[in-house]
Amino acid sequence: MTLALQGRFVGELPELAVPWKAEAAPQPQLLVVNEPLAAELGVDADWLRGPDGLGLLTGTVVPSDATPAAQAYAGHQFGGYQPRLGDGRALLMGEFVDSTGRLRDLHLKGSGRTPFARGGDGLAAVGPMLREYVISEAMHALGIPTTRALAVVATGRPVYRDTVLPGAVLARVASSHLRVGTFQYAAAVSAREGNVDLLRRLADHAIARHHPAAAVAENRYLALLDAVSAAQAKLVAQWMLVGFVHGVMNTDNMTISGETIDYGPCAFMEAFDPATVFSSIDSSGRYAYGNQPAITLWNLARFAETLLPLIHENSGAAIALAEASLDSFAGLYETAWTDGMRAKLGVPGAPAESVTPLIEQLLPQMQQSQIDYTLFYRLLAGAARGDAEPVRGEFIDLAAFDEWLGRWRALEPDPAVMDRVNPVYIPRNHLVEDALTAATGGDLGPLQQLLTAVTAPFEERPGSERFAEPGEKEFSASFQTFCGT
Ligand code: AMP
Ligand code: MG
Repeated sequence: MTLALQGRFVGELPELAVPWKAEAAPQPQLLVVNEPLAAELGVDADWLRGPDGLGLLTGTVVPSDATPAAQAYAGHQFGGYQPRLGDGRALLMGEFVDSTGRLRDLHLKGSGRTPFARGGDGLAAVGPMLREYVISEAMHALGIPTTRALAVVATGRPVYRDTVLPGAVLARVASSHLRVGTFQYAAAVSAREGNVDLLRRLADHAIARHHPAAAVAENRYLALLDAVSAAQAKLVAQWMLVGFVHGVMNTDNMTISGETIDYGPCAFMEAFDPATVFSSIDSSGRYAYGNQPAITLWNLARFAETLLPLIHENSGAAIALAEASLDSFAGLYETAWTDGMRAKLGVPGAPAESVTPLIEQLLPQMQQSQIDYTLFYRLLAGAARGDAEPVRGEFIDLAAFDEWLGRWRALEPDPAVMDRVNPVYIPRNHLVEDALTAATGGDLGPLQQLLTAVTAPFEERPGSERFAEPGEKEFSASFQTFCGT
């Protein structure tokens, strides 16, 4: 067998694609393959393990009709505009139809230098690629839209970072790799050339792939903005509800589909604190946990700017329409977040006037007592079942928490509802670090155990207690992630 890869992006948008080839992998060795995902895609996992499969997963064996390409994009990185980023170490192998009829991208990361590599070596190390694998699969299991990891293959090529590390390629699958930065790049080309042809083709391609309802709207490009804004509002609400910190929300790392993408310095918050930042280079906290909704809106404003010439020929009218569209973001976000919190607190039917103050009074107490954001909700479900002592034991100001508990109990919380949405197992930072260190040294055991825990996150399993516990306070307080991936 092989995968029937289409060259749809390359064919429809050649200005945004540079046909390219992966670098050879001297000694490919499969580290992990995602069997459930392979089945969903209609790909035989045993075939993936064989020579042709490994060749596809590293880009060194290209199906005869495929045209692998590096995709062009621009982007705002930490607020500063970069006109030319693009896939510096990645390739779009092509699109394929999965077993449910959905069109998906097959994309490789760490496959060698491309014309967009700038000073980079085009490579990726085993640790960061496995990190993306674990965290993206955990996100998927939590019900959060995300790119998926199909496999990580060690290449046998050394990668030079602070030390010499084993190299790897991550094969990932996504609804597409269209980014806000893709639109920024196309808008710049259109502005330079004085016509919106490329931009329009890109927008039509995005509508067809992700937001088909926009195609029949009165103003389809305004409808595209509305749809992306709605998808991103829901997505960032889901991140906030599980305590996920993306870490590098540059506009080139934000999709048009509404899937989470580009797992670099991301991590899950432990002690609740809106100022939580893990990335070593985010010294100002631009991408801190609590800033994520505002940054999403900022990125959407950059997206809206690219669409202005398509939204209306009169720029004043276009701006007014785009602003009105972006004005709805806050409400969409609030609704998604509040609905999610209702479920987390086990009170899905509670009216806004009782649940909103409940949330507003809970979060500062959690912050004051530095409570583990994940563990808290499971302990609270215990309180709904009649055993409040474990959750009470987490709070410094017991009187305030008891008062809160009383008002929460009056809403008759349902612990079964809570346990369906509040994970027991998330990829805890100390466990991820341990698993990646072991894997880099050749021991994949801890990684497999971690994957088993985080890919079934809601069901408490005896014997897995250590996967549910936060790290040591000292470790968590100083934990940093690095972009030099
Ligand atoms: P990221 O912050 O990982 O989303 O990457 C930002 C940009 O840097 C993208 O254009 C990447 O393709 C590029 N890049 C990151 N690492 C490398 C590398 N090792 N070699 C070449 N390009 C890279
Ligand atoms: Mg990126």
